Amino acid sequence: MIAGSIGMAGVGAASPLYAAEPATADDERFMRIAIDEGRRADFPFGAVIVQGGRVLARGRNLGRSQDDPTAHGEMVAIRRCLAQHGSRPLKGATLYTSGEPCAMCMGAILWSHMGRLVFAASVQQLATRIDQIMLSSAEVAARAPFAPISITGGVLAEEAMRLFAK
Ligand SMILES: [Zn+2]
Repeated sequence: MIAGSIGMAGVGAASPLYAAEPATADDERFMRIAIDEGRRADFPFGAVIVQGGRVLARGRNLGRSQDDPTAHGEMVAIRRCLAQHGSRPLKGATLYTSGEPCAMCMGAILWSHMGRLVFAASVQQLATRIDQIMLSSAEVAARAPFAPISITGGVLAEEAMRLFAK
């Protein structure tokens, strides 16, 4: 099943700064890689960065093992991508993440000028299980006119939420 784009209820819905887009056939394939990363993480979050159909970097939450509260899956994937490829391929890339990016990660995604974000579970869903900064990725994006990005949410969200069930 391909999930549709989530409704960006209210917040920036008419904003030209980002676009909510429907999922593509490849989205589930890449999201499964992100969720697999999440399965092996300290906290069940994983991310993968894709450019031109090619996986550039993967990341999973390493907050506990690295004693680093900033080692979210998205941050780890971005740092690995930078270390291996530099910043250029991040421009216009797509980041897949099992959980909607927090304000820190979304800031990093925007500063990296990625073109598209695809997430599984939303901040609202995650907040039913763990602490969350209650700010959606769309809200952050709507305040960054220098970095247009399209956002697709809800791809394999139930599968991602099941990572919290163990
Ligand atoms: Zn984060």
